[in-house]
Amino acid sequence: MNRDGALQSAWQQEIKKFDTPPAIADVYDVAIIGAGITGITCAEKLQASNQNCIVLEAVNIGHGTTGGTTAHLNTFFDSSYDKVIRDFGKDNARLLAQAAKEAIATIKANVQKYQIDCDFEEKEAYLFATDEKQAKELDDLFEGSLEAGIDISWSDAHTFPIPFVKQARIGGQAQFHPVKYIRALAEAFVKMGGTIFEDVRVQDIEEAEDEVLVLNTTKGVIRCRHAVYATHTPPGVNLLHFRLIPWRSYVVAVRLKEGNYPDALGYDLQDPYHYYRTHTINGEQLLIAGGKDHKTGHEEDTEQFFRELEDHVQLHYDIDSVAYSWSSQYYEPVDGLPYIGHLPGGFKEVYVAAGYNGNGMIFGTLAGTILTSLIHTGDHNYKELFDPSRVKPVAGFSKFVEQGADFISSFIKDKFSTEKIRSLVELNNDQAKVVKYDGEAYAMYKDNGGQLHAVSSTCTHVHCNVVWNNAEKTWDCPCHGSRFNINGKVLNAPAVKDLSRVHLAEPDETV
Ligand SMILES: Cc1cc2nc3c(=O)[nH]c(=O)nc-3n(C[C@H](O)[C@H](O)[C@H](O)COP(=O)(O)OP(=O)(O)OC[C@H]3O[C@@H](n4cnc5c(N)ncnc54)[C@H](O)[C@@H]3O)c2cc1C
Repeated sequence: MNRDGALQSAWQQEIKKFDTPPAIADVYDVAIIGAGITGITCAEKLQASNQNCIVLEAVNIGHGTTGGTTAHLNTFFDSSYDKVIRDFGKDNARLLAQAAKEAIATIKANVQKYQIDCDFEEKEAYLFATDEKQAKELDDLFEGSLEAGIDISWSDAHTFPIPFVKQARIGGQAQFHPVKYIRALAEAFVKMGGTIFEDVRVQDIEEAEDEVLVLNTTKGVIRCRHAVYATHTPPGVNLLHFRLIPWRSYVVAVRLKEGNYPDALGYDLQDPYHYYRTHTINGEQLLIAGGKDHKTGHEEDTEQFFRELEDHVQLHYDIDSVAYSWSSQYYEPVDGLPYIGHLPGGFKEVYVAAGYNGNGMIFGTLAGTILTSLIHTGDHNYKELFDPSRVKPVAGFSKFVEQGADFISSFIKDKFSTEKIRSLVELNNDQAKVVKYDGEAYAMYKDNGGQLHAVSSTCTHVHCNVVWNNAEKTWDCPCHGSRFNINGKVLNAPAVKDLSRVHLAEPDETV
């Protein structure tokens, strides 16, 4: 498995495994934890600025959301500029717009500098209001975007066969193949002397003498002067866990009967919204559509969201067949802007970049620039705007805390008879259930071959109960988004420990 779910994304086949490093340096200047767009962009930028860096990745590059994204490159965000103006002021909205344009320019410059073959293309975006309520929202978004300095205008073009009552066009957008891009950037990083170490999970960070940080990993200790968590949420319990809510989003890549693939990026304003674009994979054009977002671990029959998404696309396009369908995870920040900078409550030289909503191609790229500058000079133009320690009391914060604080404690017996399990739960093949027995809860899955997989249903992060995700065949934690495979192996942070596996004793064994 080289992505954090059972379903294949359109990008996944381009993931490459890097060789295990022959030797580990005594002390690195920077250790970057996580090899998605954030980690790899930071690594390339820092190594190019004469820092000796190591990337530590739990599985392989692109294993996380970067392998399951849709890779629109936008100058507008899930937090629209009118809301950013209201909550952060006009100057900050302008700063945000400038940052977005810089991020797309950085990606374009990297593509040119390293001659990256990643299907980078500049595009226009179209936002369609499909009813009067959305038209009012689009009016506000339009005004806010104009004030922030975004190239936006009204349009009657029918680039998408989606009826609208009002439509805005935004210039200066782009798209690319996210895994081809990070793979080439990772190769450039290695060529400059950087080290990529895969299949190693960072468990925590301690401070040693002489301002050296000690990273405890599943493969021993790594020493460094600075560390960057590019893992969404850091391991352990941190203030950020209460400021980030994990969401799942669904994607289908389909072949169209009539070949009317749009040559632009498209978005409706429904809640949650749908997003569209075209990409050619292995010489074949595909319409990539996403949406149907819900909070992680809040839905069990996740397969229904693929059916609903497909039905929705079919309303506007004549689908020939589905080439790929997959889901992936993003994190919503409590006040709408990402957290890029010093990790709150962490050691002085530990940094984090997280909370991107559905805009991580842009914010992950910006993180590279911002964190490189913070590590060299302690400062950057956007330091305050994205400061992870900012205190911004906004409506909904108490709800976030409530959701994040849904801790229960639990422990597990290490033996459990299969006979007892069978008497407790009748599972068909490819079915899962959480069963309660003797005051404890067990997460059970019967695979297609009829084999039972049983693990503790208590997340190893802060002890919330995991919920089944039937599309990706994973156990997902509703509290902070940790995810595990059917045998309890960690797929998504912040958990660093696997779920306890329950030994299924034969019926005649004593329990
Ligand atoms: C369906 C979907 C569509 C999206 N579409 C867009 C889009 O069109 N445009 C856009 O800008 N954004 C989009 N986003 C958001 C964007 O994809 C993400 O924000 C971005 O990919 C995050 O990148 P990252 O590098 O920060 O994290 P990831 O790509 O998730 O990488 C984190 C890495 O850290 C590793 N890791 C975790 N814990 C540890 C540990 N303890 N030790 C070592 N390694 C660890 C993981 O294995 C993983 O490889 C989308 C998100 C979703 C879910």
